Amino acid sequence: MTQTQPVETIPQPRHAPVAVPTAGQPYEYRRHPLVEPDWTRFPGWRHVTRDQWESAQWQRVNCVKNIKQLRTVLGDLVDETFYADLEADQKALATMSMLVPPQMINTMVPFAPLTTEALLADPIRRYMIPVASDRRTDWPSHPYASRDSLHEHDMWVAEGLTHRYPTKVLAELLSTCPQYCGHCTRMDLVGNSTPAVDKLKLTLKPVERYDAHISYLKAHPGVRDVVVSGGDVANVPWRNLESYLMRLLELETVRDIRLATKALMGLPQHWLQPDVVQGLERVARTAARRGVNLAIHTHVNHAQSLTPLVAKATQTALDVGVRDVRNQGVLMRGVNATTPELLDLCFALQGEAGILPYYFYMCDMIPNAEHWRVPVWHAQQLQHDIMGYLPGYATPRIVCDVPFVGKRWVHMLTDYDRDRGISYWTKNYRTSIESTDVEALDKRYAYYDPIDTLPDTGQQWWAAHHND
Ligand code: SF4
Repeated sequence: MTQTQPVETIPQPRHAPVAVPTAGQPYEYRRHPLVEPDWTRFPGWRHVTRDQWESAQWQRVNCVKNIKQLRTVLGDLVDETFYADLEADQKALATMSMLVPPQMINTMVPFAPLTTEALLADPIRRYMIPVASDRRTDWPSHPYASRDSLHEHDMWVAEGLTHRYPTKVLAELLSTCPQYCGHCTRMDLVGNSTPAVDKLKLTLKPVERYDAHISYLKAHPGVRDVVVSGGDVANVPWRNLESYLMRLLELETVRDIRLATKALMGLPQHWLQPDVVQGLERVARTAARRGVNLAIHTHVNHAQSLTPLVAKATQTALDVGVRDVRNQGVLMRGVNATTPELLDLCFALQGEAGILPYYFYMCDMIPNAEHWRVPVWHAQQLQHDIMGYLPGYATPRIVCDVPFVGKRWVHMLTDYDRDRGISYWTKNYRTSIESTDVEALDKRYAYYDPIDTLPDTGQQWWAAHHND
C-alpha cells in the first residue's frame, strides 16, 4: 500500500483568489487567442480612440505616476480604502516610484467588473501597484536583503557596465524605464527615489558612459555577449541606441547582443513606431551580415499582459530581422507562482505572442519583497510540474540568481537547510571582483528562503538571531 505524501504549500498572499481543485490532468491546455481588453471601461479613458491608444506618445503622456492620476482613470470604481492602502505603501515601503502605462493598467482585471476586491487580487496590480496590505508585517524584508542584492554595482568595470560572468557583460545605458515594477531587482539605481530608497545616480554624460563601455569591450576580447539594458532600452532615444549598437557591431569579438526591454509588453506602441522599426531593421541587417545574434529579451510575468499589440510588436521585430524574442519573467507569489499560472503564461507567450519562454527568475532578495519571494523548494516543485507540457526548447528554466554567483538552475544547489531556509551553491568562474581570490571556486554561497515559509522551528531561530 502506498502512502500519500502531504503536499507542501507556501503561505498564500493576501488578496489571492481561492484556487478550485480540478480532476484529470493537473493542467488542461486550451488555446486562448489574445484579446485587447476594452480600455473605455475605465472612466478616465471612456473617450480614448484607437488611434490615441496605439500612439506611443499618448501612452507615455498618460502614464499613471501618482494616486491623483490613478483616481482620474479609475473614477469611483474602487473605494477610498484602496487609495489609503496605496498611499501608506508609497510613504514608507515602496522601493520603486509609480509609473504605469495605460497599456499595463488595461491588463488589470481585464474581463470582469472592476471592483476594489478584484483589483486587489489582480496579479498585474500586485506587482505594478503594490499596496501596504500586500506586504508582510512579520518579515517584510529578509535580514540579508540588500539594495543591490546581486552586487551588480560592485562589479561595475565602467559606469553602468557590470562584468559578472566571464564572457558576458550587462550594459546599463540609463536608469529609467517606461514602467516601474514594484519588485525591480535594480531598485538601487532604477527610477526615482522614494521615501524608503534614495537612489544611486549615474554621473557620466550618456556619451561618456557609452565610450567607456566600448573602450572596455575593446580591451577585453574575451567578452562576446552584451546584454544592453538599463532601465529599459525603450527609454534611450533611438538615435543614441542605434549608434551604441552599431558601435558594438563594429567589434569583431562581440557575437551576441540582447536588448532588454519590458516595454515590448508594457508599451508595445514604442516598438511599433516607424522610426524605431526602421532603425531596428538597420541594426538587425548589420547584425545578420556580421553573423551576430541579435535578440530582444522582454519581461512578462502573467498571461494577462499579453495582448494583440504585444504580439504585433514582437512579430514586427522578428519581421525586420531580430533573431529571437525571449521572455525572462520573475516568479512571485500572488502573481505567477503556481503551475497553471506559469503554464498559461508560457502557452500564451509561445503559442500566441511569438515570444520564447526562456527563464523565470526567483524574485531577488531586495528590501520589502518577502511577500513576493518563494522558497527554493517551491521553485523546484514548479520546475518539476511544468515539465512535459511545452516543447522542450520552449520549457523555461526556473533560476535562482545567487549573490556573488549568478544564475543557477534551481535544482543545482549543493546543500539545503530546510529548517532555516538556507540553500548553498557553488560556482565555476570568478566574477570581476574575485580575480585574485584563489578560493572563490571552492566556497559555498548562501541563498535564503522567505522566513514566513519556514517551519516553526526555523522561524523561531531567525526571530532569536535576527529580529532587530
Ligand atoms: S522594467 Fe526592468 S529595470 Fe525597469 S523597473 Fe521593471 S524590472 Fe526594473
